Amino acid sequence: MTNIFHRSLAHDYPTAVSGQGIVIRDSEGRDYIDASGGAAVSCLGHSHPDVLKAMHAQLDSLAYAHTSFFTTQVAEDLAAMLVEDAPAGMSHVYFLSGGSEAIETALKMARQYFVEIGQPQRRHFIARRQSYHGNTLGALAIGHNAARRIQYAPLLIETHHVSAPFDYRGRAPGETPEAYGERLAAELEAEIARLGPDSVIAFIAETVGGATAGAITAPPGYFRAVREICDRHGILLILDEVMCGMGRTGTLHACEQEGVVPDLLTIAKGLGGGYQPIGAVLAQGRLVDAFRQGSGLFQHGHTYLGHAVACAAALAVQRVIQRDGLLAQVCARGQQLQGLLQQAFADHPHVGDLRGRGLFWGIELVADRASKQWIDPAHKLHVRIKREAMAEGLMIYPMGGTVDGTCGDHILLAPPFISTPDDLAQIVERLKRALNRSLAAVSVYS
Ligand code: PLP
Repeated sequence: MTNIFHRSLAHDYPTAVSGQGIVIRDSEGRDYIDASGGAAVSCLGHSHPDVLKAMHAQLDSLAYAHTSFFTTQVAEDLAAMLVEDAPAGMSHVYFLSGGSEAIETALKMARQYFVEIGQPQRRHFIARRQSYHGNTLGALAIGHNAARRIQYAPLLIETHHVSAPFDYRGRAPGETPEAYGERLAAELEAEIARLGPDSVIAFIAETVGGATAGAITAPPGYFRAVREICDRHGILLILDEVMCGMGRTGTLHACEQEGVVPDLLTIAKGLGGGYQPIGAVLAQGRLVDAFRQGSGLFQHGHTYLGHAVACAAALAVQRVIQRDGLLAQVCARGQQLQGLLQQAFADHPHVGDLRGRGLFWGIELVADRASKQWIDPAHKLHVRIKREAMAEGLMIYPMGGTVDGTCGDHILLAPPFISTPDDLAQIVERLKRALNRSLAAVSVYS
């Protein structure tokens, strides 16, 4: 019996009772290796002593003070740390309670910026197909996750979508990655021209695509071309690093590896590592100045933004990552994970593509490798894989609709940064068993 309106009303959820390191234990005493960090959240694993200590200390002094009355030192310290390590020109941080709120905030901040500088005619957002930016109505409109979006379509603000970089399925035979990137950038430019350049507010993209298509990375030069196009038309570039940011791909911000600096950058999940709900928007000083010289007020706000315990948790998480050199560890472990995945799946008849960066990996499943034909979505393979993985004591993040929102399946892995080589080996071993049992059950093995 439950009184919780659970995500699925057809599913019985085990009760999680404790977490230690990369393992969560349920009320039956079963252990689960958290190989996806929930949904790319738990970068330090569970019950990290330094984070718990910082949270306890904050609780003992002040849990919460509404941000229309006060600032807090812990929020100031976290903002200062984030700005210090931010891409060039970022000067301010707006704190929220999660990823969707961060996206809503970035959309509104971008719109109000143009109102402040006397360009109120700008009203369009351009985003990418097969993206995910959150489940609130604005974020859902910007995103392109068909399953999550379709029944709300009549309520969503008009958004314009262009192709996302999807090397495995989108790059033409014989086309170089660079040429592919140029083609995608040209598509964006054509869409801007169609809408009228001075009517566009921003282009928004996940730096590394996460939940919808599974760790898709951009071809070399793509983001630099996008940045140049946005600049030429006075359009803002919003990068969504809610999932791929805060060290997940081996640099603090994924955009560092693309050689671009966005105007607004959204972060969440790995910011607080799941110890508290927290997200943020990092903003370029130029934008903040426009607000300061204009109305002086960002017309926005939520009750819990800048929550003191959430800021304390995030500050502790980020200090541990810095102190323990965990970004370098993400790179090293990422290479190990890539090697293990290749060993396990490079010749697997139903693994079409292995892709990713750092400790952020996607495995795309197919019925046939040569044709890249997907497995019939009626099998709901991703649902089965998640169930089989849980039976193996393994948390992973499988998803359907990889190809076009309806067809295709992938598995996302995002293990904690503290994972050891042995942990990674166990993850891949359990994953292989769960995957093969799932594939056998839907009889794709002929
Ligand atoms: N943006 C991206 C790239 C995400 O992956 C997610 C969640 O998965 C969100 C936004 C929404 O974040 P939240 O679930 O915290 O609202």
